[in-house]
Amino acid sequence: MNLQPASCTRTSTRTAGRTRVLVRCTILVAWALHFALGAAQAQTLVQDEVPGLRLPRNVVPLSYEAQLTIDPKAETFSGALAIKVRVDKPTDLVWLNAAKLTIEEARAVLPGPNAEGFAATVVPGNDSVIGLKFAQPLPAGEATLRIRYTGTFQSTSVNGAFKQKDRDDWYIFTHFEPLDARRAFPSFDEPALKASWKLTLRIPEGLRAFANMPVESERGSAPGWREISFLRSPPLPTYLIAFAVGSFDVRDGGTAGMNRTPISVITPKGRAAEAAYAAANTGAILAAAEKYFGRPYPFPKLDLIAFPQSTFFGAMENAGLITYGARGLLARPDEMSTTFEQWFIAVTAHEIAHMWFGDLVTMAWWDDLWLNESFASWLGDRITAELKPAWRWSARLADTRSWAIATDRLTSARQVRQPVTEVNEVRAAFDSITYSKGQSVLTMFEDWLGPENFRDGVRRYLAQHEWGNATADDFFVALGSADPALIPAFRGFVDRPGIPLLDVVLNCSAAPTIELSQQRLAPVGVAPMAAEPWVFPVCFEYGGAQKGIRQCALVRDAMQSIPLKVNACPQWVVANRDSVGYYLPRLSPALYAALPKAERALGTKGMASLIADTNTLARAGALGYVDALTFGARHAGANEPRIALAALAIAADLPAEFVAPVNAANFAAWVRKHYSARAKSVGWLPRKGEPTDMPELRNAALPFVADRGRDPKLVNEAQSLTARWRKRRNAMPPTVRRSVLTAAARTANHNAPMLFDALLAVARASSDRNEQEDVLMAL
Ligand SMILES: [Zn+2]
Repeated sequence: MNLQPASCTRTSTRTAGRTRVLVRCTILVAWALHFALGAAQAQTLVQDEVPGLRLPRNVVPLSYEAQLTIDPKAETFSGALAIKVRVDKPTDLVWLNAAKLTIEEARAVLPGPNAEGFAATVVPGNDSVIGLKFAQPLPAGEATLRIRYTGTFQSTSVNGAFKQKDRDDWYIFTHFEPLDARRAFPSFDEPALKASWKLTLRIPEGLRAFANMPVESERGSAPGWREISFLRSPPLPTYLIAFAVGSFDVRDGGTAGMNRTPISVITPKGRAAEAAYAAANTGAILAAAEKYFGRPYPFPKLDLIAFPQSTFFGAMENAGLITYGARGLLARPDEMSTTFEQWFIAVTAHEIAHMWFGDLVTMAWWDDLWLNESFASWLGDRITAELKPAWRWSARLADTRSWAIATDRLTSARQVRQPVTEVNEVRAAFDSITYSKGQSVLTMFEDWLGPENFRDGVRRYLAQHEWGNATADDFFVALGSADPALIPAFRGFVDRPGIPLLDVVLNCSAAPTIELSQQRLAPVGVAPMAAEPWVFPVCFEYGGAQKGIRQCALVRDAMQSIPLKVNACPQWVVANRDSVGYYLPRLSPALYAALPKAERALGTKGMASLIADTNTLARAGALGYVDALTFGARHAGANEPRIALAALAIAADLPAEFVAPVNAANFAAWVRKHYSARAKSVGWLPRKGEPTDMPELRNAALPFVADRGRDPKLVNEAQSLTARWRKRRNAMPPTVRRSVLTAAARTANHNAPMLFDALLAVARASSDRNEQEDVLMAL
């Protein structure tokens, strides 16, 4: 069953004046569906039908009290759970989410004298749902479900409660997003069913335990065991609950922000020294997020905790307890690099932004996951740029947009806000459309409203929905009070797939004019796809050799003319100079030919963005590859690492199958001719005081030129560095290990089988997980 009030929202978005009507309409439909669903579920109960992805709403949780016995050495855990619920319609069957849990006993206790309550029998549902069937109906009102159960720790995946080993010690962690809280607790495992949690963990003596909230009390229990009780949490969705048990060390990160929130970095035993950078830098991120939101961090503490092994995700914003793969949080002094610092700051800023956007205000359903993720990415990048100006972080906007376009140009692309009715659709929502397209669209509409108006809209949204749930419509309404015209334009980008390809032609036959036409960007070989014109802001830059003039306009029509603010015909024109807009400009051949005149005026960020767009156009088939490769080669030797990186990407992204085997040697010679000199000037090994972006250029350029360019000098260097490193680990620093080993493995030729066996032996023997991972990636 789909609860989307979409028909109403989509038909009433044409004019700004209808905004209020739209909101009321949404609420009415939501209520109507709520009651209709209640009636339908009552029928379902009679038929004992198992619910699908969503549980019936006739019973909802108010609070949880959970006691778990957790021993990291064991394979299983046990739990006793009390869920206070509100029964809206009498029922003898309560459905809960539970996966791979064994229910030993379940009963319902009603307010009043019968403290024992009455027992339930378990009705098998499916692999995600169980039913508790009672001999008599639970009356409307409050009741408490008491459940004793056991479960199994995962040891080969990171879903639910899972175990990992570091050195000789076992640790237990959790990861519940999106649908895996049900592997640890029988629960109402949906984002809209927020409730407060009180957690108590019974753990072996000598270990430590962490959870979303600070410890309230601690006492000895049976011999050899301790009981740690955590403070009751504010209302949270199940996917944000987390705990960890093991012999952890703690590194103090001080206090930060309006409430002097205590910050700690929690590491596997003996590794607290590796948390120095995280401990020193988290407070500033928290304070920057508070400043943006204009309200304090919403939880009483912030812990950052590392899983010893890598996971499929970088980090997770559990309320008050952010989890990371160790490599993102911890670094020994020899592993420290700008790349590590950048990753840590950007990811932590993303996760801390979630504490408001996701944790304090949660999306009502997974179709609005983008509200969580694109906003966290957007604010995370903004905070990173603010805290570390030397990194010139905003120059990466073009990369974010390119990542989104790689999917969004396909005929099969999905819309940002996608109906979610099946389990697979929930998991599939975590993709570049949710993260990068959402972020790029937010960037564009912030530019439309202006930073202050946009920020005020965000603050209104949080104030209106704190500790509750909200939808995209709620977000639009909060933003739209500054400019109602924004709402339908915004919807055009999140409720429809695709990105506008904007053709830009300069016409100086009379007064200088820019002629625009927009269409949906389509892959090579696909006929133009019919699409209503998008409405979006566009900024142009044009001028002479020294500096440009900026002029912005609103694009509304399929074809549109924009008169320029100058009388003389400009020498050059570019559009979307800093990649702020979610559209892809394609200049006319004459404007491409004029670009050398624009270089000085555009600067590093503008040029890098322009080259990245050229790459994106070529990959989409909207520009010939010969033109794009030639354009990239012209900038291959650029001194600015960001320009050199963008130029390199055009050649490196060229699909291998575009080069026929018979032309491989010619292509390699072309790569050497244009890219070798810059790669060699960077060198395999880091140099003291080199520019911030140099490690990124090194790791991209050298393996590429060695492998695809068959550059003999770089191949020899990679092979001999690898040979030296096999004998002596300090022959190269860990920060370049993966690039060198990758280049060596790809260029080993007749030595390949021997090198493969040697590297595999290193991976097997290594006790350093990062080293192991680098070697395996190279293989
Ligand atoms: Zn996120």
